[in-house]
Formats: sequence, structure tokens, C-alpha cells
Amino acid sequence: MIDMNMLRRKELVEKLYKEGIKNFEVLKAIGKVKRELFVKEEFKKYAYDDIALPLNSNQTISQPYTVAFMTELLDIQKENKVLEVGTGSGYQAALLTLLGAEIYSIERIKELYDNAKRVLMENGYNVKMKNDDGTKGWAEYAPFDRIIVTAGSPRIPKQLLLQLSDEGKMVIPVGGEFSQEMILVKKDMPESGDDVPKFKIKRYKDFKFVPLIGEEGWSIQD
Ligand code: SAM
Repeated sequence: MIDMNMLRRKELVEKLYKEGIKNFEVLKAIGKVKRELFVKEEFKKYAYDDIALPLNSNQTISQPYTVAFMTELLDIQKENKVLEVGTGSGYQAALLTLLGAEIYSIERIKELYDNAKRVLMENGYNVKMKNDDGTKGWAEYAPFDRIIVTAGSPRIPKQLLLQLSDEGKMVIPVGGEFSQEMILVKKDMPESGDDVPKFKIKRYKDFKFVPLIGEEGWSIQD
């Protein structure tokens, strides 16, 4: 019997490639993860459309193009220790595990945390998870080689910068309520002299994310 979802995943990968995603490992991972596992029953038929879809608690699973763009920028190397802030459905975390990284993921909403934890576990994805405000990072496991923030932030949280390893990278959408610029932060340690790190920032195009809510993000009443 023809596996329609497999065909749809293949079409999605081809579409993402045409739209500029060229990292083979990222495309391969998107071709493997069953996005339908991470979306609500009523939206499963749209799982391979390149669109964001609603989750519970007014949140969303990001558009596949956005996930691919961020994952490509993150430039994961095998055995990198990666922190994701904003587990949401767990789809992005599942992809990251296929790139050979060790994944830590934080979600502030208990209902989403519980659901993502169950789906990831039932499908054999090994992700260490926590239900908390991810703008504070996860000091116990820091430093992280890579940090990915999957909600829109008014600023780059200082705690996350502090938890980046030397030569570490962070991808984070930063901006206002209606649009955020994708930012790549690279931590560079000077070769000599004082050991104060430099953070180099590169800016990419605009996206639209749900808000990052927490100590170093938006406050609930914003
Ligand atoms: N990466 C997710 C996926 O693959 O489904 C999509 C994430 S959704 C666009 C953003 C998520 O960030 C939401 O689930 C939201 O509850 C969560 N979030 C917002 N602020 C947060 C915070 N301070 N700490 C952890 N999670 C947060």
C-alpha cells in the first residue's frame, strides 16, 4: 500500500529545497520525522502543508520552512549539546535528535510539555525536557553548543548568552509583537588577552512567532 504521508514528506522536502534550504542533513531529517504525530487530530490532513498549525493553549507548531531555516542556521555538529526554548509540539526537538545532537528542551505550558513528552517518548525520541521558563536557560546542563529559541523575544536573554559554550551559536527571533527578525549569535573567544567573549550578530529575514513569555522575554500583561 502506498504510504501517502511518506510521499507528502518527500514533496515537502523538495519544496523546501527549492525555497533555499540546502543542508542535506536537515532535509533528510525533515524527510524522516512524521509531522502528523505532532499535530492535533483535526489538522493531521494538513501536516505536510508548509504552514504553521494550531496547538492547544493558543500556541502553534511552526511552519516547516521556518523550522528548516532555523535548523540550517544552527549548523548542528554531531554530539552538540543543544538547548531548545519552546518545545511546543516536540517536532523541532525530534528533528534535532536526528542530527545527532543531545537535546534539552524547555516548555513553559504544562499541557504542551506533558503532550510533547509523551509523543517524543512513544516514538523513541530521546529528549531531556523541563516545564519551566526557558529564558532562564538550564544552568544545570550548561554550557550548550547550540541554543534555539522558537518563540519571538523582545531581546536576547542574557542568561542564554551566558549558557553558550565557547564558539557556541544561538538562533533566536527578536522583535516586536507582529514580526521578528531571525538572529544568529556566535560566541567568539579572543585568542589572547582577556577572556571576555565577543558575541557576533547576523540578521536574517523577518518571521512571525508566538511570544516568548518569561523573566527575560515578554511579561504576561505585555
Ligand atoms: N518548537 C515548537 C514545535 O516544534 O512545535 C514550536 C514552538 S511554538 C512556535 C513556541 C513555544 O514556545 C510555545 O509552545 C510556547 O508555549 C513556548 N514558550 C513561550 N515562552 C516560553 C518560555 N519562556 N520558556 C519555554 N517555552 C516558552
